[in-house]
Amino acid sequence: MHHQHLTRISATELQVNHPYSFPTRLFATPEVTLERRAVDELLRLLDLQGTLEQLSTDGLSAHIERVALTPDFHKGAGIPVGTVIQGRGFILPQAIGNDVGCGMSLHTTSLSREALEPWLDALESRLRHSFFQGGRDLPLTGRQREALLRGGVAGLLSARRPLPQGLWRQIQLHELEQALTRTESGSLPVQRLPGLRDWMGEPDRLSWDGQSGSLGGGNHFLELQYVHRVLDAPTAHAWGLRSGQVTVMVHSGSLGIGHLAGQLAFELAKGAYPAGLVHPANGFFPLLTGERNAAALQAMQDVLNTAANFAVVNRLFLALMARSVLQGMLGDVEFPLLYDAAHNFIWQEGSHWLHRKGATPSRGDEQMQDTPFAYTGEPVLVPGSMGASSFVLAGQGHPQALHSASHGAGRKQGRGEAMHANEDEFEQFLQDFRVVTPLDWNRARADVRAQKRNELKQEAPFAYKGIGPVIRTLEQAGIARPVAELRPLLTVKG
Ligand code: 5GP
Ligand code: MN
Ligand code: MN
Repeated sequence: MHHQHLTRISATELQVNHPYSFPTRLFATPEVTLERRAVDELLRLLDLQGTLEQLSTDGLSAHIERVALTPDFHKGAGIPVGTVIQGRGFILPQAIGNDVGCGMSLHTTSLSREALEPWLDALESRLRHSFFQGGRDLPLTGRQREALLRGGVAGLLSARRPLPQGLWRQIQLHELEQALTRTESGSLPVQRLPGLRDWMGEPDRLSWDGQSGSLGGGNHFLELQYVHRVLDAPTAHAWGLRSGQVTVMVHSGSLGIGHLAGQLAFELAKGAYPAGLVHPANGFFPLLTGERNAAALQAMQDVLNTAANFAVVNRLFLALMARSVLQGMLGDVEFPLLYDAAHNFIWQEGSHWLHRKGATPSRGDEQMQDTPFAYTGEPVLVPGSMGASSFVLAGQGHPQALHSASHGAGRKQGRGEAMHANEDEFEQFLQDFRVVTPLDWNRARADVRAQKRNELKQEAPFAYKGIGPVIRTLEQAGIARPVAELRPLLTVKG
């Protein structure tokens, strides 16, 4: 694509031209398809720098330092997916989207593809029951809910009792301890909880809620996959990945809790905006991190951390629900977490703030000291699309890419567009591929089925770009090296 604002500077990088002095690099080889409308959306966001200049008075200085765009860069709802902004002196909650803490996780298992394949029909109906038809056996007390919001996986670990009931009977202490070392943002501190008392319920009573163990709709998924190809044998070995092995990948966010958090964070930023200044024309309200806004900043971090803590624990719940189903059919299954990372979040790094929207951390080994990944770099999980390959890579810590990689293949068509096209192709896809949805196709009413079918169509493979060019860009640019290719066996979609 020719775009007046894009200049290619190397085989893997384009420069985005804009009126400001900070560098903005888009990582994409020539084979990656780029959208004009995503660039336009980005340029509108980058006018933030003008807002920051205006706000930088009496000793306060806030500015964008660098922007990196991942190869799955595409238009989002106000901010493009695949945008990483490093700044100083401000945070912008809108820059990470509504689904605060949305992320991916991957568990390896002791199962082989051959052992699992005969069970896929039975699995399909058991997973449907567990995820969508009241089989979610995950009671929590009010205290446990509060603990997980306040401390993520560590909070959950500290509030394991009173157990064991339901799914809890199968969760081992050492698994939670291990999960803590393998979750990128496994336990973020929260001082004050934002308005979630209703959700928490009574401190000592075990009860169910509508959020824990929910997958969320749309592009969120839990997928049973197998290792199709090992691409980096030493790293795969270190991570317990081997050819033919079954893996479980989860993509989920913070559900209703996160939407509340996103809204509260926006209101905090807007509320702290200096009275008397005209509101930014592009609608983006940064919060300056100086003394004057200390209280608002603390409240903002509490809100964002709460959502991220919920999301990471919930991804663990979802994976453990799948394990429970597998164990019910196949006996004991080893199920270690390889890694969990958020792709919509704000990280504080020294005096910088790093905003990632639809981009995943991809740090190299020197930045991963004191973690299980000190010799390999950070695991980077890049799903393709429903029915297509996904990849596990090892981060290499590319400074100009802001230590970030793609978190997927990227949407190709707008949600509306996928509706109209490819009717035959989609029919064929539904016949060939196993998608577990809340509906039992054979029993559902025709109108309900038709509606679900349209929803699923938005998520069909043809709605997404190919994963190949994305992975090749990450590899050639030195952002991350491919470790294994995964192929799907079955996908659970909300
Ligand atoms: P997000 O919604 O967080 O922006 O993007 C998630 C990414 O997950 C998408 O870019 C897409 O590549 C990928 N994806 C969406 N649905 C599925 C699925 O059912 N299975 C797999 N493996 N990947 C998916
Ligand atoms: Mn996501
Ligand atoms: Mn999400």
